[in-house]
Amino acid sequence: MSSPNKPIALDIAIIGGGSAGMALASKLDNLPATVFEPRTAAERDCSWALWAQSQQLDELSPAIRGSWDQWRLVDHSGEIIHHSNKYRYTSLSSGQYLQHCEMELKDAVSLVRAPIENLVAEGVGGEFTADGRNYSAKTIYDSRPPIVDNNGLRQHFVGWEISTKEPIDNANVATLMDFRVDQSRGLHFIYVLPYSDRHLLVESTMISTQLEDTDWYRNAISQWLKERNIEVQSMLREEQGVIPMSPAQPQNTGIAQIGTPGGAVRLSSGYGFSTIQAQMAVLAESIAAGEYAVPAPYSKPLVFMDMVFNRALNMQPDRGVRLFMMIANTLNGEQFARFMLGRAGLTEWTKVVLAMPKWPFIKSALTQLFSHD
Ligand SMILES: Cc1cc2nc3c(=O)[nH]c(=O)nc-3n(C[C@H](O)[C@H](O)[C@H](O)COP(=O)(O)OP(=O)(O)OC[C@H]3O[C@@H](n4cnc5c(N)ncnc54)[C@H](O)[C@@H]3O)c2cc1C
Repeated sequence: MSSPNKPIALDIAIIGGGSAGMALASKLDNLPATVFEPRTAAERDCSWALWAQSQQLDELSPAIRGSWDQWRLVDHSGEIIHHSNKYRYTSLSSGQYLQHCEMELKDAVSLVRAPIENLVAEGVGGEFTADGRNYSAKTIYDSRPPIVDNNGLRQHFVGWEISTKEPIDNANVATLMDFRVDQSRGLHFIYVLPYSDRHLLVESTMISTQLEDTDWYRNAISQWLKERNIEVQSMLREEQGVIPMSPAQPQNTGIAQIGTPGGAVRLSSGYGFSTIQAQMAVLAESIAAGEYAVPAPYSKPLVFMDMVFNRALNMQPDRGVRLFMMIANTLNGEQFARFMLGRAGLTEWTKVVLAMPKWPFIKSALTQLFSHD
């Protein structure tokens, strides 16, 4: 029996069993590790979406809620529809995904259902408490949410999962951004995932520095549904989220960060799931080979470009609709998917840069270059 003062010794502690923590834990090849996560998978159910290829679709199949080979962006001047044979825009139940990861954990990996506190870093490891016990770990990976800058640019949203009284049109197309909504408070769009012709996720999403009251997003969703004569049969679930769009400030800078605090959520789009998957797969392989460093989620030029984009957006939010529509217009479906995944090559970047208004981007790039962010 362990005394309350003598720490329980661990090889690897993974703090936070969300997207990054559970992906890493489930990919560890029977190496001794412990995940600390206070919430159950069911308690943190929401939609996580990504552009997935066929092998990934197989791997994620236990958690897939819907998958589309067409997606669109819409504004008052029209719509841009993308189609891809290679990538499907895919929505997962985060709860089911996390549950699946839990089932995949090898015998040597355990899960403690408690938050950690009092973390003191020592080299790549440290000491902390959880559930009234002291722990000491040789290596720690921390995925606790970063400290959010309350004045920084953020993506914030409220979503409703609903069933409808009548079947809706175009249930085979995911709507990533419908900008035909109130733009007076910041860049605003409606996001719609039709799981079937009577079952939808509809989100009101803002990109701005100030959060709105919950009712503001709810009213935007109601208004959007009303204008399309879509009547709600039943409200199945509501989800809310805030995703920082400025570089993450980890809660403890002394140890290795994975997931959001490690910069794995794309600053310009808020997408992070695919990158986290790939990064955690590489990390798990490295750990098996005795190398514990976390690989960078994105290249430095990509992070720079994302910050330039966000700065341009922040300086002139009224340009936002045009910027996103221009990106969608200049790329085809596959290029757009790669671009959103952070895997764009020279072709995609050249097209995007040529399509962008030059002066605001040059100004933003220069400001970013000489800033200390
Ligand atoms: C509502 C929402 C929807 C999103 N949708 C998408 C999407 O569709 N596609 C996409 O690519 N990205 C999406 N993202 C962005 C990103 O992919 C997710 O935020 C993803 O969950 C990030 O993974 P993570 O492991 O960094 O954080 P999380 O999954 O949030 O995991 C962090 C975990 O740390 C735990 N924790 C907190 N404090 C402690 C503590 N003291 N001790 C131990 N554990 C603690 C939390 O309970 C949590 O489970 C979304 C983000 C949000 C907020």
